[in-house]
Amino acid sequence: MASVRVAVRVRPMNRREKDVSAKCIIEMEGNKTTITNLKLPDGVTGDSVRERTKTFTYDFSYDSSDCKNASFVSQEKVFKDLGTDVLKAAFEGYNACIFAYGQTGSGKSHTMMGIPGDVGLIPRICEGLFSRISGMTRRDEASFRTEVSYLEIYNERVRDLLRRKMAETYNLRVREHPKEGPYVEDLSKHLVQNYNDVEELMEAGNINRTTASTGMNDTSSRSHAIFTINFTQAKFDAVMPSETVSKIHLVDLAGSERADATGATGVRLKEGSNINKSLVTLGNVISALADLSLEGANSHLKKKQVFVPYRDSVLTWLLKDSLGGNSKTIMIATISPADVNYGETLSTLRYANRAKNIINKPTINED
Ligand code: ADP
Ligand code: MG
Repeated sequence: MASVRVAVRVRPMNRREKDVSAKCIIEMEGNKTTITNLKLPDGVTGDSVRERTKTFTYDFSYDSSDCKNASFVSQEKVFKDLGTDVLKAAFEGYNACIFAYGQTGSGKSHTMMGIPGDVGLIPRICEGLFSRISGMTRRDEASFRTEVSYLEIYNERVRDLLRRKMAETYNLRVREHPKEGPYVEDLSKHLVQNYNDVEELMEAGNINRTTASTGMNDTSSRSHAIFTINFTQAKFDAVMPSETVSKIHLVDLAGSERADATGATGVRLKEGSNINKSLVTLGNVISALADLSLEGANSHLKKKQVFVPYRDSVLTWLLKDSLGGNSKTIMIATISPADVNYGETLSTLRYANRAKNIINKPTINED
């Protein structure tokens, strides 16, 4: 059993924030993140530091901002901590998942995919995977089969980002295999032999994602992208040859500002409103799992039935194993450093704090 690990990363100020002379309100020290409210709510007087600040402890707090006293945390450092962990788990035969959560513009895609010359976790993980594979193949330790797929969930519909024919790409169904768990029916899987193969697919998928978004007002901030690596190793052991299958899900979630509209206020939704059902359900699943884990820790309390609504959304159904199930899971919450985003940032920090309580039960997928 292992807790979901949670990292928080703060990005540099963007142009818009600089233009309004925004102030830094995030400070990080060790694994602690402190947020300061520069505007006290109406009716609250007093100026004590305690009233203005809240401190959270995560597994990692990454200061990639340009605020005073920031010690810049690079993409490489994030990979060294989190990416190598995921690779290690995969080679040991576990499933793994990293998901990035945060408001639009807070650095989810930067952290997961990155930019040319400063690539993020997904390219680095793929590169690391192949460098390990080539070492083990050279030493005749095992043979490997690696396949990738790349999908997007928009409006509760699954779209294959790696198929050319439009008719085949939209509205794929999620199904559940009794042993292997949920999967997307007819999702294309692409056999890859080296990092270049993956890079080509990643680029094609990313273009596919952005092309659609210019036509359909801002899909990329409303959609969830899941890049999945399926990877099988056959060990050549004369005494006990074995085959292990691992799945790595790398998830760039929709902007979290979409979740809050219901999450925080409980306002009922109108049909066709632009609330992101998958994101709201993700929040509900995380809450239910956190409650379950806390109950587990207080086992003297009478157990009540906690229902985890995995099947209420496409995203949570697909990622069922990664949330409370058979997977090593890491959540990266990305935030802005600026006072103008205080509300969203605090809500992200709280969300991440809740996710820390989730306990998964990873098991090795060995035959
Ligand atoms: P999101 O995917 O959450 O909407 P992006 O990843 O696109 O946000 O980030 C918004 C902008 O901020 C991009 O131009 C991105 O390159 C930049 N950015 C985000 N995080 C960082 C970081 N850690 N270091 C440098 N630039 C960043
Ligand atoms: Mg993005």
